[in-house]
Amino acid sequence: MIIEKYQAKSLIRTSRRSPHHIHLNIYQGCFHNCSYCDGKSDEYFMHDDYSNTIRAKINAPELLEEYLKNKGFLPINREKTNTLLDFIPQSSRKKMASDNPKFIINIFGNICDVYQPAEAELEITRKILQVAYDYGFPVRILTKNALVLRDIDLIKKINQDTFARVAFTITLSNPQEQLIFEPNASSTNERLTALKKLREEGIPAGVYITPVIPWIGDKDANLIELFQQLKDVKAEFVITGGLTLKPGRNKEDFLKTIDEHHPELLVLYDELYRNNSIYGQPDMEIWKKYKLQNPIKQGYQMSREFGINFYEPRYIPEGTIRINLEIATILSWIAFLMAEIYEESWHKAYELREAAIELENYPSDISLMKFEEILTLPFEKHVFRHIIEMLQTGKSSYLVKKEDNSQLFFKNDDLFSKNSSSLR
Ligand code: SF4
Repeated sequence: MIIEKYQAKSLIRTSRRSPHHIHLNIYQGCFHNCSYCDGKSDEYFMHDDYSNTIRAKINAPELLEEYLKNKGFLPINREKTNTLLDFIPQSSRKKMASDNPKFIINIFGNICDVYQPAEAELEITRKILQVAYDYGFPVRILTKNALVLRDIDLIKKINQDTFARVAFTITLSNPQEQLIFEPNASSTNERLTALKKLREEGIPAGVYITPVIPWIGDKDANLIELFQQLKDVKAEFVITGGLTLKPGRNKEDFLKTIDEHHPELLVLYDELYRNNSIYGQPDMEIWKKYKLQNPIKQGYQMSREFGINFYEPRYIPEGTIRINLEIATILSWIAFLMAEIYEESWHKAYELREAAIELENYPSDISLMKFEEILTLPFEKHVFRHIIEMLQTGKSSYLVKKEDNSQLFFKNDDLFSKNSSSLR
């Protein structure tokens, strides 16, 4: 492994679709070298030697700090700042809020793992966590490496102060198979043990089973074993997703691994991904021909059987409009069920998702608006029906009908009844 340190100009990615989150890309390249890795896709413009040369944004903590300062936030939890802040007691500092709402800092490794081996030496992710703690910001971490436990002290502190969650990607229960597809990541067992430790320490932590690899990871034996293990370690949630193979390095690397270790499957994968979809999606006609299972439905069904959430319970950051975000979350969830699980209406699901994004960005508390004002929002009738019902009753009859337990999205059950009194 070659590590190239460099001073980056940018670090932070934001999106209108998730305005209460920022995403950090700390590394370029990933030594874990998973054969299905989406980070190798051409669209991310990674260097050629993606798996061996790891480019590290050595100034990432400073870039994050600069970003937070520019938004008016102060290092309220830092012991020594050499500024007037040092003279203000800790208990009063929290009140010195910026006019800007807070957001969740996503320290995600979905295209370059933030706890890959280079991090053991460089400690950039650790320094990022320290900045998040100093400024009183919540974090979400995603990794395939048990090295995350090195920072459990900081993660605990952040979780006690605001919120911290760790998610692992885990795909295969069989150790030999796991080594084939994720040669340099922590083993499945190490990740599960790390998850157990985090849960014992009271830290929210769950699992993404992505991708569920057709003909290998989608076998009941693999998924049932993983779900059982997740239940045993008290995973907070589990979410499953399918395999995408984008034309170029992503698809080529995967097929090379299949050729080496499962040559009998090569012809099947060639056929399944022959459409060369730019999004890496399989050809659905071929999917049906081989009677492959839908990995999302499969996971949703198992999550119900094993009693594990199929969603990440949402943390709502300080300074945001709580009720708007709660309703937006439920609209997105209804859209998910409508489209992915019950296959009722893709069109309505799309409209619900768009309305959810609108609400995420909406600057006023909709529960304090008059009925006629709410109706001026750019939503379809069926969307209004869901929103008004939630504002008036605090519930969604759609979810009740589907016997879905995601009412748990709400931490404060009284919120709706309290706010709905202002609805006229
Ligand atoms: S851990 Fe994630 S980013 Fe790293 S190679 Fe594997 S899939 Fe890619």
